[in-house]
Amino acid sequence: MPENSERPEELLRRADELTPKERMAIPRQPMPERPAEERRRDQSEVPLGFDELHAVIEACRCLECKSKPCVQGCPVGVDIPAFIRLIRQGDFEGAIAKIRECNCLPAVTGRVCPQEEQCQLHCTLAKARKDPEQAVSIGRLERFVADWERGRERPTPETKPSPTGKRVAIVGSGPAGLSAAGDLVRMGHEVTVFEAFHKFGGVLVYGIPEFRLPKEIVDDEVGRLVELGVRFEANVVVGQTVTIDELLEEEGFDAVFLGTGAGLPLFLGVPGEELIGVYSANEYLTRANLMRAYEFPKVDTPIVRAGRVAVVGGGNVAMDAARTALRLGAQEVTLVYRRSRTEMPARAEEIHHAEEEGVQFLLLANPVAILGDETGRVRALRCVRMELGEPDASGRRRPVAVPGSEFDLPAELVIVAIGNGPNPLATSTTPDLKTDSRGRIVVDPATGKTSKRGVFAGGDVVLGAATVILAMGEGRKAARAIDRFLATGEW
Ligand SMILES: Cc1cc2nc3c(=O)[nH]c(=O)nc-3n(C[C@H](O)[C@H](O)[C@H](O)COP(=O)(O)OP(=O)(O)OC[C@H]3O[C@@H](n4cnc5c(N)ncnc54)[C@H](O)[C@@H]3O)c2cc1C
Repeated sequence: MPENSERPEELLRRADELTPKERMAIPRQPMPERPAEERRRDQSEVPLGFDELHAVIEACRCLECKSKPCVQGCPVGVDIPAFIRLIRQGDFEGAIAKIRECNCLPAVTGRVCPQEEQCQLHCTLAKARKDPEQAVSIGRLERFVADWERGRERPTPETKPSPTGKRVAIVGSGPAGLSAAGDLVRMGHEVTVFEAFHKFGGVLVYGIPEFRLPKEIVDDEVGRLVELGVRFEANVVVGQTVTIDELLEEEGFDAVFLGTGAGLPLFLGVPGEELIGVYSANEYLTRANLMRAYEFPKVDTPIVRAGRVAVVGGGNVAMDAARTALRLGAQEVTLVYRRSRTEMPARAEEIHHAEEEGVQFLLLANPVAILGDETGRVRALRCVRMELGEPDASGRRRPVAVPGSEFDLPAELVIVAIGNGPNPLATSTTPDLKTDSRGRIVVDPATGKTSKRGVFAGGDVVLGAATVILAMGEGRKAARAIDRFLATGEW
């Protein structure tokens, strides 16, 4: 509700005439969420999204400033004030079309983008009100209008461009691959996406849990691409089923885009990591999401179910693993992070939701060993207390161990979520593809061109584990370069 006494309906009648002062006086609109007690044991989505009234009132808060600092904070350059204005005017169809000019996964990014560090960080309203919490809820508005679109019949498919006769292979169906595929098919190229798993969407389906990103949203986006003419082939492991050289030389593809992500988990390197009951977050979440362990006993996916769970890490992956453990029946879930809360890289909303659901945070603590019982099963995580020293290369204060401060955290399941590197399969079978010391594919940052003619790459396989929106931006950038290469043959 507005801070002044005006009723929302009256305010909306005057939406076009509101002065900047009146817009600034409207408080941020709350988005309803399911209560923690109700949701902590099921997979249904936590935030419920704006209704029309709250979305339009929230849109009224945008000051439509000329310099548009929020757009500079968006890695794909969505014209944010323009789509928000269209929402304010009730033109939801126009608003979603405006977003789709730059972003092909709005229902996804509206849910998972770290908006508080991107577009919303630059919001003039937040600066004017000297409170970052008062930024216009750009992500929630994006989600609202994307969900509005999903609830309606699909518009008539876009008119198809004339075929160029060129064929492009996309390896990996995560956000980088899907964005590249969408742009390339609209340019008239024949596009085939090869995916190692049996489902399409990359981390959006096997990593991020259902309660944060319902899988039907990703299926819907894949369905749109199929309607546009993109072919999808599941269970094809490039580097094993077929090599990149074979795609180019034998299968008749004119270019290849590698969007194979960063699916190789990093481990702690401490004694006891081989014990029964130690998982990488990747494996744990894949078993839970893709193999539907959460549907037990209907689906009997092998996964360790424990009363006490320790999750190591402080990013989105750690939050997802901790909240999934609760939903798989854990009584106590402790997140062990070596820095303080301020340095946690997870989205603010995920940290808040995890805490609300009962995940305990053990901050400034670092594992030094995993302890087992006589049957080889985990019984505890041995940690050492940390304190923060000088800032390191990342700008965050470096954690330093406090000598003699070891203690044991009882746990029957330990989930390691400390980061991922690129999967080496596709690159190791292509010797002329240059990678760096961390296994990331080396590309020209302006085009995504690799060291091998005709092969482009983008997303986490180039950036290291990053974000959905950055991966999408990379896919789109490479699509433009591939189009140029196919038209000119110039490398
Ligand atoms: C649990 C989790 C939570 C996250 N939460 C967020 C969040 O809230 N917000 C956010 O912005 N980002 C989040 N991220 C990061 C984000 O999901 C990634 O940055 C993004 O998905 C990277 O996209 P991509 O297309 O490069 O790779 P991916 O999404 O990893 O997709 C790569 C695809 O390539 C396939 N593949 C790999 N090798 C081969 C091969 N040889 N042959 C065929 N296919 C292959 C893989 O199976 C996969 O489907 C999260 C990541 C994880 C793991």
